[in-house]
Amino acid sequence: QVIIEDMGSTNGTFVNGERISRCPLRNNDRIHLTSDTLFKFALGDEAERMYAEEMHQMANYDAITGVLNKHALLKRLQEEFSYAKRAKLPLSVLMIDIDFFKKVNDEYGHMAGDYVLSGVAQRIQKAIRDEDILARYGGEEFLVILRGSDKAGAVKLAERVRKLVEASPFRFEKKDIPVTVSVGAAVLEGKAAASAEKLVEKADQCLYRSKKDGRNRVTA
Ligand code: GH3
Ligand code: MG
Ligand code: MG
Repeated sequence: QVIIEDMGSTNGTFVNGERISRCPLRNNDRIHLTSDTLFKFALGDEAERMYAEEMHQMANYDAITGVLNKHALLKRLQEEFSYAKRAKLPLSVLMIDIDFFKKVNDEYGHMAGDYVLSGVAQRIQKAIRDEDILARYGGEEFLVILRGSDKAGAVKLAERVRKLVEASPFRFEKKDIPVTVSVGAAVLEGKAAASAEKLVEKADQCLYRSKKDGRNRVTA
C-alpha cells in the first residue's frame, strides 16, 4: 500500500479533487499539489510491467534471434568506443556473415533459414565472453563488440566462433544443414583516432576479404 500524506502545506494536497491530509493511493488516482501540478498515480501491476518489458524488448532486441538489434548495438558501440578511448583500453569488433545463406533459404526453406539464424546467434553467444556484446547487424550478419580485446584476442575469439559454427550441422526437420561463417575483425588500439563507424567499416572490409579468399575464415 502507498500512502500519501500532506505535511501541513498551506495550499493543500488534493486526490481526485478532494483535499486530503492522509490517504492510501489507488491506480489512476490524480494528485494535485498546486493548481498547475498534477501527478497521476499508477501501481505497476503485472500487466503494466509486462507491457513495459515487451516494449523494451521490441525496441532493443531482434525478434528472430533474441540478440540486440542494430539500433541498440550502435548505441552500445558508441559508449564502448568512448570508454575504451578514455581508459586507453583496446576494443575490437567482429563482423560475422553466414556463408551462402541464400542457398540455405533456397534449398531448405525460409523457416529453416530462420532456424539457422538463431542457431548461429546461439553459437556465437556461446563462443564469446560474458562481457562481449552480440547483435544482429543485418539480414544474416552479426556484430560482436569485444571489450578490452587486442588483435590477438580478437582473432582468437573469431576463430572460436568460426570453428563452433562449422563444428556440426544444424538439424531442421530431419535434415542436416551445414553452415559456415566468414569473419572480419577490426581493432582500436591505444591512441588511434578512429571513430566507432570507422571501426565497423574496417571490420566490414576484412569480412569482404574473408569472402574473397574463399569464406569460412577470419581476416583481421
Ligand atoms: P555470402 O557467402 O556472399 O554472404 O552469400 P549469401 O548468400 O550469404 O549472401 P546474400 O547477401 O546473397 O544473401 C543473404 C540472404 O539472407 C538473402 C536473404 O533472403 C537472407 N535473409 C536475410 N534476412 C533473413 C531472415 O531474417 N530470415 C531468412 N530466412 N533469411 C534471411
Ligand atoms: Mg552471407
Ligand atoms: Mg551479408
